[in-house]
Amino acid sequence: MSTLDPAGWSGLRALGHQMMDDMIDHLSGIATQPVWRPLPDDIRAGFTAPLPAHGTAPERLYESFTTNIKPYVTGNTHPRFMGWVHGGGNPVSMLAELLAGAMNANCGGRDHVGIVVERQVIAWAAEMLGLPAQTSGVLLTGSSMANFIAVLCARFKALGADARANGLQGARLTAYASAGVHRCVPSALDMAGLGLQALRKIPVDADFRMDLNALRAAIAADKAAGCTPFLIVGTAGTVDVGAFDDLTALAEIAHEHNAWFHADAAFGALAALSPNRKHFLTGIERADSVAFDFHKWAQVTYDAGCVLIRDPELHNATFAQATSYLAAAPRGLAGGHPWPCDLGPDLSRGFRALKVWMTLSAYGSEALGAVVDTTCTLAQHLAARITASNRLELLAPVKLNIVCFAITGYTDAQTADLVADLQESGLFAPSTTIIGGRMAIRAAIVNHRTQQSDIDALAEEILRRIAL
Ligand SMILES: *Cc1c(COP(=O)(O)O)cnc(C)c1O
Repeated sequence: MSTLDPAGWSGLRALGHQMMDDMIDHLSGIATQPVWRPLPDDIRAGFTAPLPAHGTAPERLYESFTTNIKPYVTGNTHPRFMGWVHGGGNPVSMLAELLAGAMNANCGGRDHVGIVVERQVIAWAAEMLGLPAQTSGVLLTGSSMANFIAVLCARFKALGADARANGLQGARLTAYASAGVHRCVPSALDMAGLGLQALRKIPVDADFRMDLNALRAAIAADKAAGCTPFLIVGTAGTVDVGAFDDLTALAEIAHEHNAWFHADAAFGALAALSPNRKHFLTGIERADSVAFDFHKWAQVTYDAGCVLIRDPELHNATFAQATSYLAAAPRGLAGGHPWPCDLGPDLSRGFRALKVWMTLSAYGSEALGAVVDTTCTLAQHLAARITASNRLELLAPVKLNIVCFAITGYTDAQTADLVADLQESGLFAPSTTIIGGRMAIRAAIVNHRTQQSDIDALAEEILRRIAL
């Protein structure tokens, strides 16, 4: 007998029920916990043990989880976590992860319901952004992978199947994005074999949007130098300040030059569900591809990224390979093509779609849109508190849910210390960034649990500390 299942299930059943109760208590009481706790050295050292040869009872492991793991996670489920751009997750998604674990489906291919649920989610994503119903797509770890897949599709459009077979062969492809572009876009060009330098970072205007005249000039200069402008990336919600490029204008310019138009809408895509903010995304419906995350503003548990590709045949042609062991069949379990393994680099993939489908179904687009609106309203509230103070100043206009501000007279080192102090106190977790050469405290309000009292408490705590 070498099965890993227990001889009798009652002990595991009891443990599972206990875990479920504890996790629901954990989420329902999250606001009373510290946002974050530094990991003590002895616990850190406990994770350098050799590979265990013999098993430990799951009850003991659960104790270890409770003591050594649960208190020391990132903290992004907490209403006072405002660092980076992290989603808060949701309890239905947590339960869906349990169900997906029990099914243990491999969603790389084959004819089963996991693939069908994923196609439903992709169709909803296309509908949300106004792309055609036949739009192709896959779920991924995150927008970093989604942007990479979009770059490979754009490369396919520019160079065709020949480049898949034989590489770039000296092709000089150039891509364009605003200076506020996320680091994963240059990385995607690097991984696609084009090099980081293939990305032209175009200056932004006072509202942190790509300067269109500078874009036109850069394209003209590259063409004159014998390069092929093949890709324009519009950012819909920059990670620093939440700025939206003029997507309609970028779509036009891409069309003029026969270039691929991609939108990195990692978190901004969800503005589509907010009647008040949907207009920021105008033009995205013309994109050849879109990258975005369900794990940020849509509050699905990590990880859940998504890429949409307008042309389903091109998407398939960019990744498909004929292999005997993955051959399509007209019927049986090997039916149901196209398979996700022909739409990206992953073959084995988990049942991510279940938690996305359950989250979107449980709450509906209106409630998720209301979360987007509320977080933006809270950002405006924080901006107003900053403007009202003579010790604090805004470093960028607050268009969306991100507030970048500075303390008058503070050096970058003092600002970094204050932010680290706040994090280590367990009270708040903002992050930092650099705006116009100056370090900013950055509050990204993404979590559906954050309330106005949390925003007020943050402003008051900062003012209290700098008054000391
Ligand atoms: C978060 C983010 C990314 C990267 O997405 P991941 O899901 O972290 O891989 C890319 N672009 C923007 C604008 C982002 O905010």
